[in-house]
Amino acid sequence: MSIKKIGKAVLVSFLDDIRYKLEDTGQIFLLSGKLTDEHKASYYSLQSPKYPFLANFSKTKEDLYQKELETYEFQRKHELDRLIAYVNSAVLSEPVKAYAILKKGNMSQKIYSVYKDNVYKFDRADYSSEQMLLQINDLEEDEKRKFEYLKNKANFVQQERGPIPKSVQREVWRRDQGKCVECGSQYKLEYDHILPFSKGGNNTDRNIQLLCETCNRRKHNNI
Ligand SMILES: [Zn+2]
Repeated sequence: MSIKKIGKAVLVSFLDDIRYKLEDTGQIFLLSGKLTDEHKASYYSLQSPKYPFLANFSKTKEDLYQKELETYEFQRKHELDRLIAYVNSAVLSEPVKAYAILKKGNMSQKIYSVYKDNVYKFDRADYSSEQMLLQINDLEEDEKRKFEYLKNKANFVQQERGPIPKSVQREVWRRDQGKCVECGSQYKLEYDHILPFSKGGNNTDRNIQLLCETCNRRKHNNI
């Protein structure tokens, strides 16, 4: 089994067919005829006499908005917004198979699925909704784990490279007896990283010492 996340998708058409467009590449995915009854119900409800204004319009969401603004009072647009949100939530409540529409009007094999605003690609066309959902959940869990790992790592690095913790400062001050470790001066003391961050040094007390300003300058001029 193999699955790949293609990217975020937005609903662009829902009258004669239901189409989603990939946000970054603009590629169009046409949802396959295998919609559930619930999908079909929400889909056909759009063509009911309740919404006569939809019948005369062309098929993309953008067109509908444009025509709405030109032809009807502004309030209609909110009705349309609600409709689109409704179709979106109903259609995407479980993975729905989709065709990628390729150049020259061809359609790819049915190995794509649209679910919760995302398009996924599968290695085979014959997975059931349940099988697709399992794979999607695995993938999303995996991504979440990776994200958490990277976030923790970033936090750790920030902690390591941030200001010297007060507890470490106190320990270093105590150990070095409040004096410059080079010349013994008690004047203008600074916390010095023995091995700088840029060379892999960190904020532990073993890597920090007290130097007076003069000795610290001299050290840095010699590095
Ligand atoms: Zn000194």
